[in-house]
Amino acid sequence: MNGKAVMKIPGSRSARKTAMAAFAVCLSVLLSVLPSCSHEEEYTKRSDGYRNYYEIFVRSFYDSDGDGIGDLAGVTAKLDYISKDLGADGIWLMPIMPSPSYHKYDITDYRNIDPQYGTLDDFATLIAEAHKRDIRVILDLVLNHTSSKHPWFTEAVKALWTGADSPTIDYYHFTTENPGQGYSMITDKYYYECRFWSGMPDLNLDNESLRAEIAGIAAFWLDKGADGFRLDACTSFYTGNNTKNIEFLSWLNGVVKAHKPDAYLVGEVWSDAGTVADYYQSGIDSFFNFPYATATGKIAAAINGSGGSSWASGLEAWNRTIRENGAVAVDALFLSNHDNGRSAGFLMRDPVREKMAAALYLLAPGDPFIYYGEEIGMTGSGEDPNKRLPMLWSLSDITGITDPPPGATQKVEGIDGVQEQIADRGSLLNYYKKILTVKAKNPEIARGEMHALDTGIGGVAAFTSSFEGKTVYVLHNLSGEEQKISLSGSGLAGLALSDSLTTGKKSPRIAGEYLVLPSMSTAILR
Ligand code: CA
Repeated sequence: MNGKAVMKIPGSRSARKTAMAAFAVCLSVLLSVLPSCSHEEEYTKRSDGYRNYYEIFVRSFYDSDGDGIGDLAGVTAKLDYISKDLGADGIWLMPIMPSPSYHKYDITDYRNIDPQYGTLDDFATLIAEAHKRDIRVILDLVLNHTSSKHPWFTEAVKALWTGADSPTIDYYHFTTENPGQGYSMITDKYYYECRFWSGMPDLNLDNESLRAEIAGIAAFWLDKGADGFRLDACTSFYTGNNTKNIEFLSWLNGVVKAHKPDAYLVGEVWSDAGTVADYYQSGIDSFFNFPYATATGKIAAAINGSGGSSWASGLEAWNRTIRENGAVAVDALFLSNHDNGRSAGFLMRDPVREKMAAALYLLAPGDPFIYYGEEIGMTGSGEDPNKRLPMLWSLSDITGITDPPPGATQKVEGIDGVQEQIADRGSLLNYYKKILTVKAKNPEIARGEMHALDTGIGGVAAFTSSFEGKTVYVLHNLSGEEQKISLSGSGLAGLALSDSLTTGKKSPRIAGEYLVLPSMSTAILR
């Protein structure tokens, strides 16, 4: 009996939870006669879909063959880094399908691997090696548009030129009237919708043949072992029409889950909180939590001054809202991604703030996403290529380090590489690892129902998370001073300090009637 058996349980994540409870009873009986299995190991074997994801821009990650371009074999080579040195157990691969652009968000073939990145055999190896390590792999699926070099589009344009008919004409939005912004001219009489740029013609997602193609593409990758998809540009499917976008996502969710019930879907709705929450009505598992991310989001605000108690109450309200909208609704917190300035910048390149920000968003309900390089404090902002710089594996050994993406003008500076940070107990990388180790020991944090706890101290973020009858207590001190929290006055009487994290020299401790939390530290009580 292992995690694989559990992953086959069909239905939504909440339905799986019920089945998991029965499985846990069965497992605990088994474990009671197996003295080598501890309480923590019991949970690490429970593959119920909750994951800590790592977003990888393959081109800039690890170059396995020395041509300067990162590749799938490079990702495979670094799976032990991801699972052991960092502690993540999910990967989001940015687009890997053939594409004329360096970022590959404009696809010419939905059923292959870009030759710069490798082959379908390399993909099979990556999936096999990832699954051996209990790492799930989700793929970027770009359905709003294709490349203008995709055969669907070139055939459609050819047919329009010659006056012939082609079924792919209706895959796009051609018109003889010029609608203006967001359209480009092709042939001497047609315009086509292209919201991002002329090289990315928008697809007509109402076309039934196209929907059948999309269902086939999803099945193709799921059959090759993909564990789900990251859905690009969901608000652009039907520009300005969230209702139609949610309908389309609901259809897609049904198609994907019918083929692979435990597949995981996370959508990009780069919008305000109310809009992101509405999209959970589609049944898609997760949407990236943009209102909490980036320089202007709530994580940066909590770290850079707005305090802790509002963090806990805000996150409780947010999780309640999304769970009211979606039957599954798994929050997807992140600090930054490939479209935003790296978090080291808005956290003032201050390792203490970077460590505390990591503790805040990783020790929270849901599936968080770590952008590659964030765990070592990589920098980069402004033009897109600067947000996607080569992973800094080492300061002294260039093995595997890729060339910068075209157009990059910045360099990662002022930090140690992976090699140096692995050897440094106080590094940001080792703090990430400690956080994820603590999280694995306390499965209620990701899975549970969260409630803010009032300690009476504005700089302290405190909450409980309850799952399957067990409750864990999480307290972060975001203030500049040590804080003494009354155990009896904060509903913490009788609890023990089970884990702690500190960015400084002193660790959290219980002293008599008080929990003593040094500045920028975290305590876990049970
Ligand atoms: Ca290469």
